[in-house]
Amino acid sequence: MAERPFIVGNWKMNGTRAMLPEARAIDRAAQRQMKVEVALAPPFTLIHAVHREVEQIGVGAQDCHPAKDGAYTGDISAAMIADAGAKFVILGHSERREGHGEDDALVAAKIEAALGAGLRIVLCCGESLETRDSGRAEEFVLGQLRHAFAKVVDAGERLTIAYEPIWAIGTGRSAGLEDIAAMHGAIRRLVKDSFGTQAAAQVRILYGGSVKPENAREILALADVDGALVGGASLSAESFLGIVHAAIDDDAA
Ligand code: PEP
Repeated sequence: MAERPFIVGNWKMNGTRAMLPEARAIDRAAQRQMKVEVALAPPFTLIHAVHREVEQIGVGAQDCHPAKDGAYTGDISAAMIADAGAKFVILGHSERREGHGEDDALVAAKIEAALGAGLRIVLCCGESLETRDSGRAEEFVLGQLRHAFAKVVDAGERLTIAYEPIWAIGTGRSAGLEDIAAMHGAIRRLVKDSFGTQAAAQVRILYGGSVKPENAREILALADVDGALVGGASLSAESFLGIVHAAIDDDAA
């Protein structure tokens, strides 16, 4: 576990202003402890509102367009989300890769745009069940990351990686502890080979995929797991804070 674990909530396409009290409750709890970095990625429409409501937690976006501006109806640039108050952006989420046909080249272009706009990135990677069953999960995930790393200029604290096996997202079935540990170890080695020892110590590697208060503690206790990217369980302050507290407890243990 990193010195300061990072717990990020991904609200996906959920939330209206009626969700702001949840963000406030998460923020109040985060203010009472400094051991864990806590952040939320609400939908675009709530970034500014959440940013105005909170003092301690980070606010980020779930995607951005690779271009600075222009004729891209319905899209949002990295500079726009930064202007709305976002400090980071989630890129390469499997729901973008699968549902919107995003390939490694597009994810790399978005990384360049986001870093250029001064944002931190939470870069997602992860294999399908078919790939895992074929025994090629590690090769696949490291391949995704190699593409992305070509556009990462300053790895350090601006880069967070989220390993999210696709079959574990939103299914209630998290990956096995041994598989998580093995993949995180392989990712850490790749970060070291690509960016050096210091970056390997600074870059946080999160696990995502059906993390909930009941399983967070054992997942967060794994050596190369530095936090969690949380979907469903981030939609209520109670369950999200259960995961934050699991990170604090583990740190104290
Ligand atoms: C996610 O989509 O990033 C995710 C991890 O979702 P869930 O926690 O719901 O599996």
